[in-house]
Parts: sequence; C-alpha cells; structure tokens
Amino acid sequence: MISFFTEKPLACWKGKDPYQGSVLDCLTVIFKTGGCSWNRCRMCGYRHERYPLMSPAELDTHLRAQMAWVQELYPSSGYQMVKIFTSGSFFDEEEIPVQTRRAILEGFRGKLVIAETRPEFVSRETVREARDLVDDGSWGCPLYVATGLETTSDFIREKCIDKGFTLQDFHDAVSEAREGGAGIKTYLMMKPLFLTEKEAMEDMQRSIVEAAPVSDMVSMNLCTVQNRTDVDYYWKRGMYRPPYLWSVLKVLAEAPVHILCDPVGGGHARGPHNCGSCDPEIVRGIREYSLSGDRDLLAALMDSACRCKEEWEFVLAGERPYCMPLTR
Ligand code: SF4
Ligand SMILES: [Zn+2]
Repeated sequence: MISFFTEKPLACWKGKDPYQGSVLDCLTVIFKTGGCSWNRCRMCGYRHERYPLMSPAELDTHLRAQMAWVQELYPSSGYQMVKIFTSGSFFDEEEIPVQTRRAILEGFRGKLVIAETRPEFVSRETVREARDLVDDGSWGCPLYVATGLETTSDFIREKCIDKGFTLQDFHDAVSEAREGGAGIKTYLMMKPLFLTEKEAMEDMQRSIVEAAPVSDMVSMNLCTVQNRTDVDYYWKRGMYRPPYLWSVLKVLAEAPVHILCDPVGGGHARGPHNCGSCDPEIVRGIREYSLSGDRDLLAALMDSACRCKEEWEFVLAGERPYCMPLTR
C-alpha cells in the first residue's frame, strides 16, 4: 500500500510569481514519473530521477499518492498558481498515463496552471482537454504550456545541449497549444556547455528577442552544475564555469521585455556566481526584479562596484572558445 507518507514528489514548495501586473502565491511541484523519454540533455540531472520500468497502473498509483501528499500538505486555499514539472514532460503519456494526468489536472482545478513539456507531446486536443479540466472560470487563460526551448539557435541547442528538437518543432507546438486555448511560457537557458561568457550572453540576448513575440512569459534559467551530467563532467575538469551574475544583470537590464529569473544556486560554485562577496545582494536583486520588473533596481546593481567586475569585463573581452582537433 502506497501512502503519501512514503510517496512524495521530487520537490514541492511555495513561492511568489508575477502574473499580469500582480504577484501570486505559487506552488511548484516536481512529480516523479516514468522519466523523460529523451533523457539526453547535457545539463539535466532530473532525468535520473525516475521510477524503474513499471506498468501504467503502477505508475498511476504512485502518482496519485504524490498528488495526495501535495493536497494534504499544501491546502488549495494557500496558492493561486501552480507550476507542474516532471522528470520529463507532463503531456508524455508514457511518463504519466492519460487517466493520471486528468486526475492531477482535476486536482488543480481553479488554479492558474503552468505545465512543462517537450514540444512533441503538444497537440491541440490534449491541450484543450487539459484546459477544460482546470478551468472553472477564474482565469482568462487558465493553462500555460511551458517548454524548455533553451535557445533559439538550432546549432547551440543541438551541439551544446543535445535537446533533440528544432525551433520549428517549438513553433509547431506553440501553434497547437494556442489552438487548444493555452498560453505559452518559454524557458531559455543561459550559458550551456562549450560557449564563452560573451557567446552565452549574446545567445541569450538574441533568444529573448526572437522568443518573446510568440511567448506570453519568458523565463531565463541560469545553467547550474547538476550531478551526473555532461556539464558536471566538464566542470570538474575546469572546462565549464556557470554564468557570472554580472552577465545575468546585463541581459535582464537590456531585454526588451520583463524576463522572469530565479537564480537557483546563485553565489555557489555550481551555480551562477561572481566573486562570492557581491553575490548575495545581486541574487536578492534578481529575485526582486523578477517579481517587480523594476529596472531601476537592475541599473543600481549594475552600477555597484566590486573587484570582480573588472575580472568579468576581462573575461568578456579575452575569453576564446578553444577548438578541439576534428581528427586524430
Ligand atoms: S531537460 Fe527536459 S527534455 Fe532534456 S533530458 Fe531533462 S527532462 Fe528530458
Ligand atoms: Zn564581486
């Protein structure tokens, strides 16, 4: 017998998220599932968090137990928005059986739901059904389909991330999701493997400009070094450094739209960081900006002085991609 005492999501927490000019209480849930069907992205540690192979019925039992745990510990009255992540894609029926998906969505009825998925699992029929299940009339748009596009460059997405889909696939999914009545949230990722600091910044700046017109929300994830990933392999050999917080500030300050950003792991060696002493204030500032959209705050932080700023400028000017030989 599985109970919610023994079965809980990979993670679940409450926070705040901005939405159309106000700030909502938001529940984030990362469900443990059958696992990501792609399972190859170079920076992704969640793909290891999966149940061993099991029948859809068993998977259903485990997932319903996780949902019961969420409902017991986080009463519905305590939040308005819910962000659903899995160790892959919420709309992948191999990962979450259809009946289970429906039950989870019904459990969040009345909430503003943001569900993450790879583009190949987005169809207008699936999205329409999901929207109808969560919609009780409280929200103009009760469902957002969220996708980790990461970058609008197909070359960088393929070589540096190994994401396994193209920009065109993303655009097709956006059309399907909109046909199904959902909004679009796009996740971009700052500084995948193999890019210099400057290349990473430019990639993010271009991606924001290109992704914003088709997205209702754009969120910038900052690459962190998760265990048992390619990023971890290279980081341990001194061949990868997570982004400077200075780069993050610059990108946010120059972006044409308000970009959401939670600098997870900020100030730590495995997360986006500067020198260590200026990090806490900047991390706090980025979180504040993400909620308020206050650009004066970004400008003030960007103007603040720290000895590591020169180092960052030196890196931007001097860092070169190093080429591996193509042949032996
Ligand atoms: S980032 Fe997403 S698509 Fe890529 S391996 Fe991880 S869960 Fe799968
Ligand atoms: Zn510093």
